Amino acid sequence: MKTETFDPVAISEQQFNKAAAYITGLKAGLIDYLKYPNQTHIIHFPVEMDDGSIETIQCFRVIHNRIFGPSKGGIRYHLDVNQAEVTSLAKLMTWKCALVGIPFGGAKGGVVCNTKVLSQNELQRITRRFTFELSKVIAPQSDIPAPDMYTNEQTMAWIYDTYNGLNPGHNNYPVVTGKPIGLGGSLGRREATGLGCLFATQQFLSKALIPSILELKDTRVAIQGFGNVGAVAAKAFYKQGAKIVALSDSSGGIYSEQGLNPYEVMAFKQENGTVVGVPNTKIVSNEALLEVDCDILIPAATAFQIHHANAKQIKAKLIVEAANNPTTPAADAILQRRGVYVIPDILANAGGVTVSYFEWVQNHANEQWALETVNEKLQKKMAAAVDLVFDYWQNYSFSPNDALIKASEPNFRTIALVIAIKRVADATLLRGIWP
Ligand code: NAD
Repeated sequence: MKTETFDPVAISEQQFNKAAAYITGLKAGLIDYLKYPNQTHIIHFPVEMDDGSIETIQCFRVIHNRIFGPSKGGIRYHLDVNQAEVTSLAKLMTWKCALVGIPFGGAKGGVVCNTKVLSQNELQRITRRFTFELSKVIAPQSDIPAPDMYTNEQTMAWIYDTYNGLNPGHNNYPVVTGKPIGLGGSLGRREATGLGCLFATQQFLSKALIPSILELKDTRVAIQGFGNVGAVAAKAFYKQGAKIVALSDSSGGIYSEQGLNPYEVMAFKQENGTVVGVPNTKIVSNEALLEVDCDILIPAATAFQIHHANAKQIKAKLIVEAANNPTTPAADAILQRRGVYVIPDILANAGGVTVSYFEWVQNHANEQWALETVNEKLQKKMAAAVDLVFDYWQNYSFSPNDALIKASEPNFRTIALVIAIKRVADATLLRGIWP
């Protein structure tokens, strides 16, 4: 069996190189510059655990690019967090913000820890110390964290409070987004990524590229990951009449041909800690979930779930990448050959950073927008970004290989990256390289 790399930096470079090759006139030195992070912070600090023992915690904050404005990116708490993963996710943020037209650059943070075994007090001590260590890096106008896997509004509240204590006398709310509503958070932020996936999918389906899926009603949807993003997406698609046939979390997945009610699944998970075991469902593994008979597959968990070995077995006609980096380049090529469309991560899950930006704007103005205002603006941003990528895909002249791309590449990832990289490259040159 052909092997492939799961190195996130190598993969992001492959994707970048493929897209950059389609942009004429990019100087080699500029391409090189855009591949590297602007700053990488690797931090170790001690934390006292509840039982009196001391543990060393390793953390990262990578700032990839700030051409368009302050760097923006979530903070992930997970045992698998490492520098390569955080770096590739920081790059993804740069392209995501550039693609949807948000005046932010890209960053990402990660803390190597297992939130499932840490107490709230331990999590609070880790978060506050991490914020202290980053207190000269993060700031409302330079670098702005947000939630990601296994971090939430409470984590953001601790970050805000610690930073505010270190920088008294200023409006520090914009230093972090994804805060609780009662502490400068935006209405709709928690739901933004999942809802953004819905808006992106609706706009994509309106292009009628997939004749058998012209609307969501009765469309069969499978979702891997039932956390913040996956659960919200499940509810949003369900409300549109889609049939949610499979759902999963880190303990495994469930399948029902008749369709699942995500509200009932959520109630079950709250009581039992997992979706596995919901009555009248068949248990499936997370691997098997990706291959169930469905129309739309939404990976909403971790990276590289769709790879060379399983891409041929995927039955979905459309993959909506709620998670970051869920598909490897080898899988992309297979899916493309098979005519499976992919709404790539930098487009599909851009709703989160979009409403983070709205939160930041509200914080600066000391305002709180109505939920309808937030969602209406989100819907417009997502639809405009899908239109942009679709129009490029249909009409943009890529020069030498133009015919080849149009004839053989239903590849929205490359097109989205072309738009984003070109925007960042053009802005870099407009600002000028000095001294
Ligand atoms: P979360 O921590 O709230 O949920 C993660 C979910 O994935 C949980 O249900 C967990 O049980 C499940 N999971 C973990 N490992 C798994 C595995 N190996 N197989 C199947 N399921 C597994 O995180 P989230 O905020 O929902 O983020 C999910 C994905 O979406 C991540 O890739 C994240 O980078 C991406 N994302 C999140 C946001 C956001 O606003 N939170 C924005 C953009 C992208």
